[in-house]
Amino acid sequence: MASTSDKSVLLLKPRGFCAGVVRAIDIVELALSAYGPPLYVRKEIVHNQHVVKDLASRGAIFVNEVDDVPPGARLVYSAHGVSPAVRRAARDRNLRVIDATCPLVTKVHLEAVKFAKTHDTIVLIGHKEHDETIGTMGEAPERTIIVSSPAEAEEVEIRGPKVAYLTQTTLSVDETASIIGVLRRRFPTIQAPPAQDICFATENRQDAVRQSAEFADLLLVVGSVNSSNSRRMVEVAARQGLPGHLIDDETEIRSNWFEGVDRIAVSAGASAPESIVQRVVTALNEFGFATVREVEVVEENIQFPLPPELHPVPQTAHFRSTS
Ligand code: SF4
Repeated sequence: MASTSDKSVLLLKPRGFCAGVVRAIDIVELALSAYGPPLYVRKEIVHNQHVVKDLASRGAIFVNEVDDVPPGARLVYSAHGVSPAVRRAARDRNLRVIDATCPLVTKVHLEAVKFAKTHDTIVLIGHKEHDETIGTMGEAPERTIIVSSPAEAEEVEIRGPKVAYLTQTTLSVDETASIIGVLRRRFPTIQAPPAQDICFATENRQDAVRQSAEFADLLLVVGSVNSSNSRRMVEVAARQGLPGHLIDDETEIRSNWFEGVDRIAVSAGASAPESIVQRVVTALNEFGFATVREVEVVEENIQFPLPPELHPVPQTAHFRSTS
């Protein structure tokens, strides 16, 4: 058994905010400072309760649907994107829209539009209840079928000979490969998107977690329970034999997790703030994990530009650190 001084925290990098989340939060903050409240946001701007609470405390009003926004008001779409039906409803209410959809989600929407013109069926690999999947499906609802698992891929019935697939951006790389394998076996001519839809941030965080199984005894992922990419990180670790827990913050840490544990890998989903990660590190220190070391697995230096509506505003927040 290691002495207390041997017990360490390994902070995985990259972790936490991705470029799409930084951009979405910047958009709400800049819009609040440029236009003032009320500023409405459809759905959670990103799937993290700390981010949502913080923005709400500064004047953002989170709503579920466009109908909840007074006509003519200013509305921000979340990073997860919206369907054309939502865009129409916003136009009908004369809402002044600022679009915080991640550019990589928009890319998947454009692929859906393109495939819908030339293919009979689009198999959308994703989670049925997720805001992103709902938005993407809305581009071609009559042609799109959602598949969430290899078992569902075995059963799916397609319409017509021309079939293509797309995926949600925040899935498990490994599980998605299994689903695509089943689809290719059943439909050998199925067309893939031009480039993988799972985004760089999801893939990088999963790579880091996968590699941490070689040197850690336990994984803690900071993220909210409705954050798809955060949940996938815990699953990826479990597949490597590394036990893990998803925690929203330090209050969810349990002392009985640490029996026989010397090295804890700590990471964070793409929507989890670094300030919460640091609170977790402080709490782990109180449990005897005194040494903290950062382990960079993949370099990540991507930024996305702001939408044109906010270009006149000074863009200092654009360069916020993501670590
Ligand atoms: S996780 Fe990926 S798709 Fe989602 S906001 Fe971040 S970069 Fe965009």
